[in-house]
Amino acid sequence: MLRTHTCGELSLLDVNKKVTLCGWLQRSRDLGGMTFIDLRDRYGITQLVFNMDSLPHLCEAARKLGREFVLEVEGTVAERSNKNAKIATGDIEIIVTSFTVLNAAVLPPFTIEDQTDGGDDIRMKYRYLDIRRAPVRDALLLRAKVAAATRTYLNQQQFVEVETPVLIKSTPEGARDFVVPSRMNQGEFYALPQSPQTFKQLLMVAGMDKYYQIVKCFRDEDLRADRQPEFTQIDCEMSFVSQEDILETFEGMIRHLFQEVKGIDIGTLPRMTYADAMKYYGNDKPDIRFDMRIAEFGDLVHGKNFKVFDDAELVVAICAKGCSEYTRKQLDELTDWVKRPQLGMSGLVYARYGKDGSIKSSVDKFYGPEELSRWMQACQAEPGDLVLILAGNEHKTRKAMSELRLEMGERLGYRNKDEFKCLWVLDFPLLEWSEETSRWHAMHHPFTSPKPDDFANLATDPGSVRANAYDMVINGVEVGGGSIRIHNKEIQQQMFQLLGFSPEDAQAQFGFLMNAFEFGAPPHGGIAFGFDRLCSLFGGADSIRDYIAFPKNNAGRDVMIDSPSAISIEQRKELGLL
Ligand code: ASP
Repeated sequence: MLRTHTCGELSLLDVNKKVTLCGWLQRSRDLGGMTFIDLRDRYGITQLVFNMDSLPHLCEAARKLGREFVLEVEGTVAERSNKNAKIATGDIEIIVTSFTVLNAAVLPPFTIEDQTDGGDDIRMKYRYLDIRRAPVRDALLLRAKVAAATRTYLNQQQFVEVETPVLIKSTPEGARDFVVPSRMNQGEFYALPQSPQTFKQLLMVAGMDKYYQIVKCFRDEDLRADRQPEFTQIDCEMSFVSQEDILETFEGMIRHLFQEVKGIDIGTLPRMTYADAMKYYGNDKPDIRFDMRIAEFGDLVHGKNFKVFDDAELVVAICAKGCSEYTRKQLDELTDWVKRPQLGMSGLVYARYGKDGSIKSSVDKFYGPEELSRWMQACQAEPGDLVLILAGNEHKTRKAMSELRLEMGERLGYRNKDEFKCLWVLDFPLLEWSEETSRWHAMHHPFTSPKPDDFANLATDPGSVRANAYDMVINGVEVGGGSIRIHNKEIQQQMFQLLGFSPEDAQAQFGFLMNAFEFGAPPHGGIAFGFDRLCSLFGGADSIRDYIAFPKNNAGRDVMIDSPSAISIEQRKELGLL
């Protein structure tokens, strides 16, 4: 290599060594007799010194160098008089004896330092410059580390990495597909995989036994803040397993990742049923870094002539510890917060449990001290706490309470990014009813098996059937999900029938899988983890974008290469699109 060392490794142990470094000029400071330059590469920053007295020409030349020039520098390592504890090489500097400009650079459109003046759009347009910045670079290094640790674990467990195709077949289930026109089969289209689901199942039929892949998946959905049209999964499947085997294997994987990447022992993962998650946390991905469980008031509040509660399908409460002295203004603000159109509640009822033991509620007209005291018991409130109550339509109220719980958790500082609480959520319903399409949809996907105990209800009460499906949740984020699959043709057919497929349609769309089941399909199951999201959790960031080298923006565009873009008339003709 052109260099003897990187910009991140020299220390006092290297003093007096003659070295050659290569990198980018991050910043230079001209102090009359001396010029200092911060030279940056992937590994760090090293300070260069040019001395006007001893090498005036060299110093003059160095002063002409601009930001982001690419340099090869020769010099001697010296101890710094003014040490910088913030960087790894802060004890030393290089007294430069010669340098070569490997390439000049025009002025960058934003400052390439940890703190930048560049907005999102400009940084995405020049993402290669953004990646030179330590926070973005470190996010990518972290991602590589997570991928390597994943492979190490799965390889040790005898998983085999198999690639599955990217040009596949469009299917009606799930999200919207991205499609690719076929030139050789005009009028026909490939689809990009939303996940390698059917292929990994076929690999089980093929006897691969334990499969994994760190794989790109594509979903053409309207983008929410933290969604990317292409994203990466750690996709896994195993044969001859029960749900318990899968939970243990992947609990092991996540434990290994936390240990390797964060140096944290996360211990054994607690397990919660879907029903309990909904009841106590109002959603299926509970943030259990804090307790604040939702209490159902139902019978405690009915029949006291308070219409709002009497008419409500659901009355639920949470207890905010130590908040009894919230001001009127704070409570009004919370009330406005639950009334926002996103939550759409008509109001917020509260009860303060004073430090002196007195209880005062916003509905004192209807409820006396004894009733209020029972409310306090129901949500385990103690003197000094504040109880917040929502009432209304079941679905909407549960969702709003779940959001309010998270908001209060945030306000009370319970959602610490450096603390990690993982759990399994189990026993999801197999199906959910869609009002929009007036039919059942698979809650996970159509290949998920029903719990044997519930199988008999499939024909009579499909909504009550639980699935052999599980999610892994970390800090309120669903990081992975999977299921034990159906491996029997008849049951798979029955499932498609329930989902509204005619036998012909099911055969046309998924015949390849159902036929394969006739050739000796082993019982199997698996899971997929959202790799980008896992990385952002490890990195303590909210956005998965920071962990993707070249992400798309919220409109699904890559603003750097300007994609998607129009194609020529010739190309369209060739593809049979004109
Ligand atoms: N293929 C599923 C998904 O992408 C995961 C699984 O069931 O293994 O969500």
